[in-house]
Amino acid sequence: MSDDRAERIAGFIEALRVTPGSKVRLDRDFDPRHKAGLKKRDAAGLLRTGVDLLAEYQERLAAQNTYGVLLCLQALDAGGKDGTIRHVMSGVNPQGVRVSSFKVPSDEELGHDYLWRYAQRLPARGEIAIFNRSHYEEVLVVRVHPELLARQRLPESARGPGVWKRRYREINDWERHLEDSGFKVVKILLNLSKEEQRVRFLKRIDLPEKNWKFSAADIRERRHWDDYQRAFSKMLSATSTQWAPWYVVPADRKWFARLCTAAILVHTLMDIDPQYPQLPEADRKELLVAKRDLEREAPVGLPADPYTARHSSARDERTPGRRAGK
Ligand code: AMP
Ligand code: MG
Repeated sequence: MSDDRAERIAGFIEALRVTPGSKVRLDRDFDPRHKAGLKKRDAAGLLRTGVDLLAEYQERLAAQNTYGVLLCLQALDAGGKDGTIRHVMSGVNPQGVRVSSFKVPSDEELGHDYLWRYAQRLPARGEIAIFNRSHYEEVLVVRVHPELLARQRLPESARGPGVWKRRYREINDWERHLEDSGFKVVKILLNLSKEEQRVRFLKRIDLPEKNWKFSAADIRERRHWDDYQRAFSKMLSATSTQWAPWYVVPADRKWFARLCTAAILVHTLMDIDPQYPQLPEADRKELLVAKRDLEREAPVGLPADPYTARHSSARDERTPGRRAGK
């Protein structure tokens, strides 16, 4: 991979990254309609390049089997999480990716500490895991609706003042622990405008095949728009860290959100720079012995090693003195 390409991708996403320690006000600092001067027609080719790069890096990640990647995707309803996952991951080997969606917690989940259900879904080494909603719901929807905190059956001491500050610290510590263990955490907020959400909701109502995507609860949540914007701002200010940064991706244009998400994932993988394992000399010798055995089994008239024969026209790999078909 050329350094040049890596640098260009890093430059492209830099403006989306929340500087650790900075105080964010989402509506003032990030524009949901931003598109970095790009046109939709340019985006398709760029996204394809991103998807191809992801496939290549994912294969290396799996082969090296040392690091893992966790991508957390947060957004309000109709923010485009599902479509982004579908497009960005379209080229990767399904065996190397696990996608988990988090809904209202079950009774069993509420019977554990609040990070428990997310820990069950972490990537293994060599894997990319995507959280469609994530542990950040614990400082978003739960903060906006205090009755949800009451349902968590926490002891008095864990419910009192300072609960959100404490959760930010615990989440930062947890992600630090993951980073130390070889798991890179990267977090994306798909930043949608209120007007674009209105338009997307109406589309979901108007088109019968989209009706299933809409629920009355979505309208109820929309009434808390300002509370969510505040909760997002506080979360971004407190939990964008050197080891697990937040990116705020403009989401009013789906094509741009997908491109940014692909770029952020590619950048994360380039940073890991996973390598195919090199065989130790002794194992390599064993392979060459196996190769000779396999070559001796070649049917009459066929190349001893069809792969080498196909890839090196200069050499005649046919078994000497014999003809095909005999
Ligand atoms: P959706 O992703 O639109 O299918 O909806 C999932 C719903 O689950 C959303 O309304 C979320 O707010 C809700 N949800 C996700 N995580 C939590 C949580 N930890 N506590 C309460 N509600 C949650
Ligand atoms: Mg929903």
